[in-house]
Amino acid sequence: MKRVLVAGAGGFIGGHLVGQLSAEGCWVRAVDVVEPEFRDLPADEFLTLDLRDADACRRALDGGFDEVYQLAADMGGMEFISSAECEIMRNSAAVNANMIAAAADAGIDRYFLASSVCVYRDMAPEEPRLSEDDAYPANPDNEYGWEKLYAERMVSAFARRHGFEARIGRFENCYGPFGTWRGGREKAPAAIARKVAEAPDGGTIDVFGGGTTIRTFVYVKDLVDAVLLLARSDEDRPTNIGPDERVTIAELVDIVADVAGKRIDIRSVDGPLGVAARNFSHERIQSLGWTPQYDLRRGMGETYPWIAEQVARTGRSPDAP
Ligand code: NAD
Repeated sequence: MKRVLVAGAGGFIGGHLVGQLSAEGCWVRAVDVVEPEFRDLPADEFLTLDLRDADACRRALDGGFDEVYQLAADMGGMEFISSAECEIMRNSAAVNANMIAAAADAGIDRYFLASSVCVYRDMAPEEPRLSEDDAYPANPDNEYGWEKLYAERMVSAFARRHGFEARIGRFENCYGPFGTWRGGREKAPAAIARKVAEAPDGGTIDVFGGGTTIRTFVYVKDLVDAVLLLARSDEDRPTNIGPDERVTIAELVDIVADVAGKRIDIRSVDGPLGVAARNFSHERIQSLGWTPQYDLRRGMGETYPWIAEQVARTGRSPDAP
């Protein structure tokens, strides 16, 4: 039976990855500094460890693994990324430095790093697609992106010296059920879904900058499929993972409102906008045979009901309209 380690398994994508690996019949050790917030994981073992600590990383890797998935990170949406840059740079860099060194010492064969398209520079709305090589010369928009770029380089350097297989997925904005949906770390799709769920039919929701920025959103099941495909492939270069479908945040609001069956207007408010636009080449991941199965309408059809249920269960936020 294949033995697999998932670091950051208590989080959104890690939880879905554990579910898929377990369904495949793998023996899974799940590790996180906190227990999963929204559900029990089908892992064979769950260890609560702070992976900023080198001994904790050695404990996580103890016993030998066929595949290691490193997803642990100090992580959140634009509001968090713009306000917690010191925490992100310190905590995530410590996790990545100690995890890759412990994995090399443990003699692992295959290591997957969850990176991000935040490694790329900002783009103008009409610009043609950036390919993976366009991450250089480097000019990420935020410190989260710089940490990811450094982690990518560290993983590649350790793989070269120690002779193991390293795979790097640059995730685009991911959404789905069982993700953070309030509290300041939630990303745009979850925040919009929560606001729509809290608003009455015909209501108005606040959107940073009126929702003109352009984004791509990948549904979590599609992302997990791509992660497993890439991790087990021969593709050792960083690889973008996202769909070709691009929308403005205002269009995302329309899709969510449609799924919710509500008429919703937008009020433009000040807030951290992040980059103006995203537009990436997906030839590399598509050449491995990956095609997303969920467009935004279908993915939101699975995500919105879960968030609406959380809102109904816990009550509206204090600043809800
Ligand atoms: P998440 O915040 O839900 O999960 C990250 C997990 O890492 C959390 O459960 C957290 O407790 C854990 N963690 C943080 N510090 C830790 C520590 N010191 N020791 C052990 N565990 C620790 O985030 P997610 O959305 O599931 O993202 C997973 C990975 O994918 C992250 O590396 C993230 O940067 C990357 N990523 C995510 C997206 C997205 O849209 N969600 C986009 C690009 C990249």
